[in-house]
Amino acid sequence: MLDQLECARCGREHDASVLQNRCECGGTLLARYTDPGVPIQDVLARPSGLWRYRELLPLTGDPISLGEPQTPLLFASRLSERWGVETFIKDESTLPGGTFKARGASVGITRAVELGAKSVVLPSAGNAGGAWAIYAARAGIELTVTMARTAPVANQREVEVTGATLELVEGTIADAGARAKEIAASTGAFLASTFNEPYRVEGKKSAWLETFAQLGDGSSMRLPATIVTPVGGGVAAVAAAKAVDEVTSFGWATGSAPRLVGVQAENCAPIVRAFERGDETAEALTTRPDTIAAGLRVPAPSEGDIVLDRVRASKGTMLAVGEDEIRAAIKDLATTEGLFACPEGAATIPAAARLAAAGDLEGPVVLYNTGSGTKYLDLLG
Ligand SMILES: *Cc1c(COP(=O)(O)O)cnc(C)c1O
Ligand SMILES: [Zn+2]
Repeated sequence: MLDQLECARCGREHDASVLQNRCECGGTLLARYTDPGVPIQDVLARPSGLWRYRELLPLTGDPISLGEPQTPLLFASRLSERWGVETFIKDESTLPGGTFKARGASVGITRAVELGAKSVVLPSAGNAGGAWAIYAARAGIELTVTMARTAPVANQREVEVTGATLELVEGTIADAGARAKEIAASTGAFLASTFNEPYRVEGKKSAWLETFAQLGDGSSMRLPATIVTPVGGGVAAVAAAKAVDEVTSFGWATGSAPRLVGVQAENCAPIVRAFERGDETAEALTTRPDTIAAGLRVPAPSEGDIVLDRVRASKGTMLAVGEDEIRAAIKDLATTEGLFACPEGAATIPAAARLAAAGDLEGPVVLYNTGSGTKYLDLLG
């Protein structure tokens, strides 16, 4: 059961029963739950999908849902053979809108509507805007999305077709973020930027709750040894660490916490650079974040410090991969496993390959394919 919100920076508690953005200190707010004492067998006896894990979700009423399925955890036999390590792919391309952003949007919008929001604004690198647009339409609330003009065409169209307002800006998601803030201030819309509201991380967490259940035997959860995830704003990575902590503290899973491996694109790797330097915070990039992995075009991640903390605490690492490696990995995954992955998800392949070559990849490994490659046709040509 949702208990309260806790500031990740100063630890101050905040009321979870009203709409919240950040703490007064500027820190992001994270949801804290009380252990309901429900055994994992009971949870896993419910229908599959993200709403199965309601004890670790913030909702009080019915979800705003588009029928989110439990996504497949695919055993990757050829990658396993190649690396000599049992390897799985958590494939999020079957979610509404074709990416894992559906998880954050369904939970984020449901909670915002429950707490009275009528109008929402958010900046997006692309897929979050698309996902929030379909769920806002489902909820019947007003939405404005700000995006860089260079965001994938698919994302621009899905915002427009739902009747949401799309505002394109010159520059990067940082500029889109500044514009979204202005719109929130002038219209009173709820500002749902990454880490600026507490619940999209809760939705994204469900991917890992599903994964741990899928690795288990049907009545228990099992933690993988390694999780390899792309890192843009870092919500997916923080959500993975949070899922591990919570299932462990509820007694839903036992065993050691997985190593968290975060992957960024060479051309936009502020958190990797901070990791390599041993820094506690990520410095904003001043160069253009040119990568086909549009979801990783986040040159100034607001909570780089939390990502760095979670990766280091897991004894994991942060790796940057090149554009040629990403393109080759899309082709590789498609030909060897039949999966048309998004560039962000494909980026996990060269990263895992590097670790395997160094004898530093422990199985079972879960690679996170955050979405479908079909949303990137304009960038892949
Ligand atoms: C947003 C996005 C990412 C990055 O996720 P974060 O949670 O922002 O780190 C990765 N892949 C895809 C397809 C995305 O849309
Ligand atoms: Zn604080």
